[in-house]
Amino acid sequence: MTLSTSRELARAEELEKSLAATTESRVTDEDMRQAVRTLLIGLGEDPDREGLVGTPNRVVKALQHLTSGYNQSLEKLLNKAIFHEDSNEMVLVRDIDLFSSCEHHILPIIGRAHVAYIPNGKVIGLSKIARICEMYARRLQVQERLTSQIADALQEVLQPQGVAVVVEATHMCMVMRGVQKPGSWTTTTAMRGEFTTNQDIRNEYMGMIRHQASFH
Ligand SMILES: [Zn+2]
Repeated sequence: MTLSTSRELARAEELEKSLAATTESRVTDEDMRQAVRTLLIGLGEDPDREGLVGTPNRVVKALQHLTSGYNQSLEKLLNKAIFHEDSNEMVLVRDIDLFSSCEHHILPIIGRAHVAYIPNGKVIGLSKIARICEMYARRLQVQERLTSQIADALQEVLQPQGVAVVVEATHMCMVMRGVQKPGSWTTTTAMRGEFTTNQDIRNEYMGMIRHQASFH
């Protein structure tokens, strides 16, 4: 990875953090609950009826949980889970469940990520790969950005020979509204290093993620 990409990544993280911090200081939970109440009224509902009394609070809590990735950082998340290791073989963690929210409609994006890298002297705890996916998924996203953020994060922390990320996801904003295409899946890829230059490695990865694990 070039130095400028790494700087850009750091700058983008800083910006997201400072945005989250300023929003947090200006808008209280009560302001947010009031906003949900306004939405309910706008939708023609009575926010004081029994079933809806607790809804503004629940919606705010749910949204805060679904966007809790803004309050996490790669640094804190990794917490010494990077180890020196001489292996040069591809590591693949596939079928990592992803639950994200689209930034255009704040509706769910549900899918899976398949993340691979080829070490270059450093390896990462496998569970941390899933945690990195989760951190970026718990933000308002578009699938393309989510995919490249996962790849760039691994590139940044491991400086591996290559990284490959494929995300397959279905978007509730497409399934439930608008074009109403249930069953439609979107696939996005982000390849770095060897995966962009070496066709054999890329093919090996694609073959591995297509192969159904026998314990399924
Ligand atoms: Zn959407």
